[in-house]
Amino acid sequence: MADIPPAALRLRLDRSALADNWTALDTMSGGASAGAAVKADAYGLGVEHAVPALLGAGAREFFVAHWSEVVSVARFVAPGSISVLHGPGSGAEAAYARILGVMPVINSLAQARIWLENGGGPCHLMVDTGINRLGLSLHELGDPVLASLDIDMLMSHLASADEDSDLNRLQLERFRGVVALVAHRRRSLANSAGIALGSQYHFDATRPGLSLYGGIPRGELDGAIRQVAYPQAAVLQRRTIAPGDSVGYNATFTAARETELAVVSLGYADGFLRPRGPGGWFEWEGIRLPILGKVSMDMIVVDAGAAPEIREGDWLEVPFSLPEISASSGISQYELLTTLGHRFERTAI
Ligand SMILES: *Cc1c(COP(=O)(O)O)cnc(C)c1O
Repeated sequence: MADIPPAALRLRLDRSALADNWTALDTMSGGASAGAAVKADAYGLGVEHAVPALLGAGAREFFVAHWSEVVSVARFVAPGSISVLHGPGSGAEAAYARILGVMPVINSLAQARIWLENGGGPCHLMVDTGINRLGLSLHELGDPVLASLDIDMLMSHLASADEDSDLNRLQLERFRGVVALVAHRRRSLANSAGIALGSQYHFDATRPGLSLYGGIPRGELDGAIRQVAYPQAAVLQRRTIAPGDSVGYNATFTAARETELAVVSLGYADGFLRPRGPGGWFEWEGIRLPILGKVSMDMIVVDAGAAPEIREGDWLEVPFSLPEISASSGISQYELLTTLGHRFERTAI
């Protein structure tokens, strides 16, 4: 078999920034210890880079959503340090948790029964205090089946921690009311934004995700959190178009004068969704090259007039400051990360 030629997309990952972000969030969590949400392949950055960096920083508790995500994390971490947020929906999933030593998050009375019928053991319990997504409802907490569970962490999840919403205080009050109702060892409420809401929200453990990877959901985290991911895309071709020529699907850009173009090996299939096109740019040696026309699946065209030296094969920097790109495109910081595609070669810098 021939060797695969080098990728035309790179995702450069600053593993020390990732480690520093965990340390900053752990410090901001005060007496609580920070875990790490590494679901969705560490929010798109790659578990094989993120988990070793987080371990190096001191993280010891890792959260995934699906059972299918356990194996990729288990390669790196000690048994017992992975929790599965979706919980055991079947006997097969409960058996899988027991074999791998994974902590299930119990989200309903039905899941509690499945866990107990399959041998039980330590687990977490998710209580819904207002997001109405997963978790037991408050009125279910008197059910006798819960007394048979061996609950390590009593958890709930904030719906609006990235806003100054009355719902934050309401969820906190409800969570405080729950702790007397179910026996447990530890408590956990806050995600990344919840950590910034203050010490009442910290309890024993926090569960940051977004901000580990450079996301800034609240102003309080500005300055404490560093960018982690730096995408780059190669130039496939240069071309010159004449006045009146148009660019891309539906001809949404028409040149007023002769224009130098560079065609770049990045598209919406790589997570560069169309709302990032208008007003967007890439950079070459500090020079901004504005995006022209519509983003295609595998290509984007930029105006290369300001960079006459640029060559086919040269690398362009794709701006990826999450709060800035989110504000200009209307795409959430979470979506910017988790839609990063599989064609990037992920490398540590
Ligand atoms: C994804 C998730 C987190 C992490 O949230 P961020 O907003 O990314 O910090 C924490 N807890 C639960 C239950 C989650 O699903």
